[in-house]
Amino acid sequence: MELLKVENTARAGSYDIEIGSGLIAAAGEKLGRFIPKHDKTVVVSDENVFRLYGERVMASLAKAGADTAAVIIPPGEASKTLKQLEAIYDLFGDIGLKRGGLVIALGGGVVGDIAGLAAATWMRGVPLVQLPTTLLAQVDSSVGGKTAIDTSSGKNMVGVFSRPAAVLADTETLSTLPLREYASGMAEVIKYGAIASAGLFERLESLNAGAAGEDIIAACCGIKADIVSEDEFDTGKRQLLNFGHTFGHALETKYGFTKYTHGEAVAQGMVIAAAVGESAGITPKGTADRILRLTLAQGLPAPETDITDLARYISHDKKSTADSVSLVLIRGIGAAVIHNVKFGEAGALLASAQTVIRSEAKR
Ligand code: ADP
Ligand code: ZN
Repeated sequence: MELLKVENTARAGSYDIEIGSGLIAAAGEKLGRFIPKHDKTVVVSDENVFRLYGERVMASLAKAGADTAAVIIPPGEASKTLKQLEAIYDLFGDIGLKRGGLVIALGGGVVGDIAGLAAATWMRGVPLVQLPTTLLAQVDSSVGGKTAIDTSSGKNMVGVFSRPAAVLADTETLSTLPLREYASGMAEVIKYGAIASAGLFERLESLNAGAAGEDIIAACCGIKADIVSEDEFDTGKRQLLNFGHTFGHALETKYGFTKYTHGEAVAQGMVIAAAVGESAGITPKGTADRILRLTLAQGLPAPETDITDLARYISHDKKSTADSVSLVLIRGIGAAVIHNVKFGEAGALLASAQTVIRSEAKR
């Protein structure tokens, strides 16, 4: 069992992240101090996850004296809508969830994002506990207090920062995760090694397609917790977590979010970002190839043969200004830096990155 604390250097309070096997069955005991005596404890989950783990959580909570109810949404990103959020509010109302209640998000990033937003806004905010069940949610989205839904203008366009009361990541749930979802989470795991820990990256290299254990998940949460503690509201250092994401998002956008999972796009984005860094003389030669090998070993795709058109899809998103985008590059495995690039230069950078990737692949 691993226990981490997320603090903020500028703002009081903290929350615990516990990582281990069997935490879902122990949710009642673990969450004892958060369970309201005179109000509802509402578990929000999706159909797949609730079918697998719903009973276990509900039983454990009931045993701890919780007055429980469940809200179950359809699985998938398509559920992160204002309409679905409204349906959740309606159910909260029917259930009689009050200010003193508790919301528990049981599921992957989709459930965590929308249940988090619902909890943060219901009656101006009820506490939320995250029980992440995907690798991606365990190492990334459940930590850091971001909540969101999508709108017609894009992903995660509406949301608030709201800290969870606690995070319990039950590693046993990963055994039922579809392989493709698992690999997708591994892309973020690899990202943590690439931006902040050469040691973690090397451990992953020696893993050889094996599964990530508690220690690796904890290492990722530790890195994220450190970054979030310094920059809870995403105005600086938190940007480093975007390594591979500028080109990853471009790929997701190019295919309307249908061809690749988020992790599959990020895996390619990291190889491309490393190659961009190599051609700019920032990243040591051979780094893109090292990241490529590691992603391939985890069942993630290599970058597409022609990446030059991605410049068109680099979004003018929350993190870019009118004429430039800040790219996260690495000075080497484990050391990320921000590098500003004019939109007009992106095409040329991608063309030279493509040359780097091709020449390294030939070796
Ligand atoms: P992410 O966490 O990558 O954002 P989702 O929340 O959409 O993704 O979850 C991905 C898919 O995996 C969904 O269909 C969800 O129902 C399913 N899922 C989540 N956790 C598990 C699990 N532990 N076992 C099996 N399926 C799961
Ligand atoms: Zn990501």
